[in-house]
Amino acid sequence: MKITSAEFVMSNSDVAKCPKDRIPEYAFIGRSNVGKSSLINMLVDRKSLAKTSGRPGKTQLINHFKINNNWFLVDLPGYGYARVSKKDKKVFQKYITEYFEKREQLVCAFVLVDIRHEPQPVDMEFMEWLGTNGVPFAIIFTKADKLKPRAIENYVNTYLQRLLETVWEEAPKHFVTSSANRTGKEELLNFIANINLD
Ligand code: GDP
Repeated sequence: MKITSAEFVMSNSDVAKCPKDRIPEYAFIGRSNVGKSSLINMLVDRKSLAKTSGRPGKTQLINHFKINNNWFLVDLPGYGYARVSKKDKKVFQKYITEYFEKREQLVCAFVLVDIRHEPQPVDMEFMEWLGTNGVPFAIIFTKADKLKPRAIENYVNTYLQRLLETVWEEAPKHFVTSSANRTGKEELLNFIANINLD
């Protein structure tokens, strides 16, 4: 897929106020600092469509971007950030939960995982929740430039194995990416283009 346009539409914390357009939607979510903003910017070839930030936990809203005038890319807040207060975490959970439960246009959620970190319970629990609630998702491993190819393979196999040992009967679709050296971009965009047509 060639990106011809990418525009910010709106930010809010209420799923009822999200855009009404009935176009396919793909959401990106993960722990703070996982590399989500960098990945989104790489995907759509923009330097700062999504705000990269040295201060994790800053983007606390549902951010809609319209891509090529025919699909939405949704940048969701990072989770698991210790400096967000307990009260904020609760509010966060409520509207993110509602987003996944109610947003009918959502075709696939991409859960981002930093390839340098051990599998984190917060990610595992989140994926389990998505699965239980019937939300289709795929995993995007980020920052692959930090590991050698062999180590990437081992990491991914171990990660998927861990998922299979819990509730999963089948490993979710996954992608290995690096925004630093721009890998995984075409594969991800092709995946989006193809499920778009279903
Ligand atoms: P977000 O909080 O998930 O949106 O993460 P950001 O995109 O702001 O990135 C968090 C940090 O990880 C920044 O210091 C980025 O420079 C770094 N980072 C993001 N993507 C990559 C990547 O592909 N490779 C490497 N080595 N660092 C990355």
